[in-house]
Amino acid sequence: MPELPEVENVALALRAHLTGRRLTDLHIGYEGILRQGARATRKALIGRCIDRVHRHGKYIIINFSDGVQPDSHLMIHLRMTGQIFILDDYIPDKHVHLTFDFEGLPVHYRDVRKFGRLELVDHPEHPSAIAHVGPDMLLVRFREWYGRISHRRAPMKALLLDQGIASGLGNIYVDESLFLAGIHPLTKPVDLDEEDLREVWRISKRVLRNSIKHGGTTFMDFKDFYGKPGNFRSQLKVYGRAGQGCSRCGSTIEGIRIAGRSSCFCPECQPG
Ligand SMILES: [Zn+2]
Repeated sequence: MPELPEVENVALALRAHLTGRRLTDLHIGYEGILRQGARATRKALIGRCIDRVHRHGKYIIINFSDGVQPDSHLMIHLRMTGQIFILDDYIPDKHVHLTFDFEGLPVHYRDVRKFGRLELVDHPEHPSAIAHVGPDMLLVRFREWYGRISHRRAPMKALLLDQGIASGLGNIYVDESLFLAGIHPLTKPVDLDEEDLREVWRISKRVLRNSIKHGGTTFMDFKDFYGKPGNFRSQLKVYGRAGQGCSRCGSTIEGIRIAGRSSCFCPECQPG
């Protein structure tokens, strides 16, 4: 599943390649991807240029303008298996549901499980459709994040995954961050002091930034904008490594389920 680092890389590529380009056509294979359907989406976007690409958590919002009418804003949520390709020699397969034509430059939206959504929204950065989503984890300041989490009595693991507290941390990066911070995933924030929480906040951002630099982590079939897999996977310390030895202390990494998600941790480096 694409997480914040993968989505950030898609946003960076969209910004680099499409800013200033005009959408001249939109081919629609499967209309269900478009929240407002084919007609309304084509009407809102065709003939307009992309002037800004914004990311909030795992959402990308693209601002389309023609300088005359009010701007349109298209929000993309890749969900489980959404992918975007911009490749001259890309041959669309049956999982490509949309092809955007930017004056001859094709941009393909591919989605094997069809859970992703493209939606026209009411604001270029803070649309009401994601008003329930917390601040972006890469941007949130410590005081705000601390105020949202420090009094909570649920396991750290579940709260870091809670997109209402902060947006963008998924299963992989939560497990990695808690390992690097030396905190057991079942620990409750209310039992930690401010410095421990500051460490979790600081390390979570570092893990995300590090993964962005490496093009994200590839699981299942997530590939980047250019069709290349990310290579952060080789850096993972605990995620997906249950039963293997900890690279720091040699203990066996354990796997448990918390809030319905698999969690990997080192019982020695992350004491309960
Ligand atoms: Zn260890």
